[in-house]
Amino acid sequence: MENSPQMRKWLDDLGLSHPLVIAGPCSAETEAQVLEIAHALKDTDVTYLRAGIWKPRTRPGMFEGVGAIGLKWMQRAKEETGLLIATEVANKDHVKLALDHDVDLLWIGARSTVSPFIVQEIADALEGTDKVVLVKNPVNPDLSLWLGGIERLHASNIKKLGVIHRGFSTYEKTKYRNIPEWQLAIELQNKFPDLPLICDPSHITGKRDMIFDVSQTALDLNYDGLIIETHCNPEEAWSDAAQQVTPKSLVQIMKDLRIRKETT
Ligand code: PEP
Ligand code: MN
Repeated sequence: MENSPQMRKWLDDLGLSHPLVIAGPCSAETEAQVLEIAHALKDTDVTYLRAGIWKPRTRPGMFEGVGAIGLKWMQRAKEETGLLIATEVANKDHVKLALDHDVDLLWIGARSTVSPFIVQEIADALEGTDKVVLVKNPVNPDLSLWLGGIERLHASNIKKLGVIHRGFSTYEKTKYRNIPEWQLAIELQNKFPDLPLICDPSHITGKRDMIFDVSQTALDLNYDGLIIETHCNPEEAWSDAAQQVTPKSLVQIMKDLRIRKETT
């Protein structure tokens, strides 16, 4: 797969004066919750509203997402606020439903990137799409699996590609939920400098008070964007409660990141 300036085009076409910001709850919970967060993010730096509809939980018995009904809530959020909408897809049925509901950005989650069969199924279902497709790194620190995912989507003629760095599982206890292993993302960036690289500080840190520092590191490393889990009532969130920030905190984080940039 050749690197090509075409890869950046979708990002450049958004005409942003700041890093790309994707924000919204870990999971869509209710229609009211989705609409409340969408309206709170409307006049901020956020371009895409994210929400998980199908949630891949490591252990069974936890909240596994509201399913396709959530796509209707997101569509309504888009109509009411003008935000573009983004969700995770993990099989071809998810892809079909997401496309039927005008989802603008689809991402492949860390637990799917580890499976070449699943990635291929999604790539086939998305063949030739003009939607933005982002590939999260696999849960384990394996650059080849990440590259393989990108190559499969590229081979399916998906032009608006990008990657999300969400950190890697480790057996050791660290201050991170998923250790960043920045060098792996940098290696990928060196191989494909024109592939937009987005940092997911929420899943790297697992804690809202660490989001700013990890976001700052990502921007210092020239990342193109951030995906930050945001919820109007984070403590009550049905998944990933400890890492979600309020819309107000998100606005403050973006402001502080900008001030840091201007003063360095
Ligand atoms: C998510 O974005 O909510 C998610 C499940 O992320 P990951 O695939 O990185 O674990
Ligand atoms: Mn999450």
